[in-house]
Amino acid sequence: MRPARAIIDLAALRHNYRLARAMHAGRALAVIKANAYGHGAVACARALAPEADGFAVAFLDEAQALREAGITRPILLLEGVFDGRELAEVVRLGLWTVVHHAAQIDMIEALPAGAALNVWLKVNSGMNRAGFLPADADAAWRRLQASGKVREITLMTHFARADEPHVLTTLEQAAHFDAATAHLPGARSLANSAAILGWPQARRDWARPGILLYGADPMPAADNGLQPVMTLESAVMAVREIGPGEALGYGGRFVAERRTRVGLVAMGYADGYPRTVPDGTPVTIDGQPGRLIGRVSMDMLTVDLTELPDSGIGSRVELWGRQVAVNRVAAAAGTIAYELLCNVKRVRFSYTD
Ligand SMILES: *Cc1c(COP(=O)(O)O)cnc(C)c1O
Repeated sequence: MRPARAIIDLAALRHNYRLARAMHAGRALAVIKANAYGHGAVACARALAPEADGFAVAFLDEAQALREAGITRPILLLEGVFDGRELAEVVRLGLWTVVHHAAQIDMIEALPAGAALNVWLKVNSGMNRAGFLPADADAAWRRLQASGKVREITLMTHFARADEPHVLTTLEQAAHFDAATAHLPGARSLANSAAILGWPQARRDWARPGILLYGADPMPAADNGLQPVMTLESAVMAVREIGPGEALGYGGRFVAERRTRVGLVAMGYADGYPRTVPDGTPVTIDGQPGRLIGRVSMDMLTVDLTELPDSGIGSRVELWGRQVAVNRVAAAAGTIAYELLCNVKRVRFSYTD
């Protein structure tokens, strides 16, 4: 069997959720959108369900899959609904929904009588992506309240730069949000992972931890006790030696300067390992530090075994996990851990607890 696999440590996921919740000292929605950042939404939701205050996904289909799998906890739709039919489904499934633009209030007003929605009203405090302008928050809140279809309104905003500890945008956004909502009742929710870790001033009633649940610190400088949840690994399936001047793989990007022992590994960009990483990107081989050489291809990649004489066919190769931080690979690929984790596919998934 092809040895490429992702091993998901559900105990680590719970550990990280508890850490986030304790740090924020309030309730926390576990953000499991995008198939739990590639980790498997149903498995992650089941592992967290006994203790999570609720879950957040991006849109209705993701929530439906969780309800079908028996998840009865609150589930918030972070993008809200796209039409009235979806809103009817939100009511039927008892979901919570974000409202971030006026057309979504129109849909709520058009619901048949009897609906008692739990709505999260999103205020745009400076990210300028989604949400009502601070000046319009009040009117939006009043329309929701007057609709007769809403039981509870939580006030929320989202930060653009919380992962930059020396940039004051986060505090400015929090101040804009507070000013716009000062006279409105209800719970508040500001903090994503980076804010939970780095901005105690952003703590309110509800946190929304995403990436930190999966053990990837959005501000990798700090040592904060997070445990990596996904290990992406495979094995060496063939070994060859190339001599000085010989090129390896597509484009001949890596050219050997000395006799080089090359391990061929069953993992490629079709599995979600990024094609853009350079020679020298870290891996471990049977637990020893090693490096990738040559361009990543669709199904295979190559590593340098020259300094690891005991390694060979069958040697375990960790692409990321406990030994190789996914953040390091993301930096090498010119992206963020979020994107790498979301993109894992085709490999076998196994779950430990
Ligand atoms: C995805 C998302 C989060 C989680 O963000 P992380 O950076 O992964 O913690 C929180 N809030 C909203 C609105 C989101 O879309």
